[in-house]
Amino acid sequence: MSDASQTSPLASIRARIAAAEVAAGRAPGSVTLVAVSKTQPWDHIAPVLAADQTVFGENRVQEAMERWAPHRTGLELRLIGPLQTNKAREAVGFFDVLETLDREKLARVLADEIQRQGRAIRLYIQVNIGQEPQKAGIAPAEADAFIAACRGPYGLSVEGLMCIPPAEDDPASHFAALRAIAQRNGVEKLSMGMSDDFETAIAQGATSVRVGSAIFGVRAPQ
Ligand SMILES: *Cc1c(COP(=O)(O)O)cnc(C)c1O
Repeated sequence: MSDASQTSPLASIRARIAAAEVAAGRAPGSVTLVAVSKTQPWDHIAPVLAADQTVFGENRVQEAMERWAPHRTGLELRLIGPLQTNKAREAVGFFDVLETLDREKLARVLADEIQRQGRAIRLYIQVNIGQEPQKAGIAPAEADAFIAACRGPYGLSVEGLMCIPPAEDDPASHFAALRAIAQRNGVEKLSMGMSDDFETAIAQGATSVRVGSAIFGVRAPQ
């Protein structure tokens, strides 16, 4: 590794994740870094790919497919933005992980598509942990029933839960609340923590963190 890559933003985030794992008594390498590349120009992404980052997050189906189709092999691509049912076919065909399952209609459409395409896509349920009216996600009070419905009638296997806490709150209690929902439902993975709070999320049990601007720089508005 060159000195330049050791001091890159990516290297620094990797080091902070490793330190947070140790501080939380978590196993080294137990937290997956999802590099959130949405809206970033390719010249910001290329050096991150070259530094062996293999997991990327995008928030729009079309943009992700255009950008990543030529580089698809060997990568894990996660959809972390809202999914419209009319994009479910493309999303199931393209992504490895969908993190924003948040309503019955989408569960039904995804179940049909997964069966039709025979593709074992991994699913996270998004929980609107701060109960914000403008945010996507199932309400915390409805999460247990929704998880059960996904597993039962829709036959989906739920790998994890995902949340985006309210920007103005201390995130720790929201991360703990998401962990509690996962624990009582036997859900294994937790996608929580972004550029400003991923260390707090790791302390609260995150198994993946979604970091964008701290790796790639400030985004142009979408
Ligand atoms: C954009 C985005 C991120 C990354 O946010 P940063 O603050 O740039 O790290 C993480 N999760 C979701 C759902 C996002 O939309």
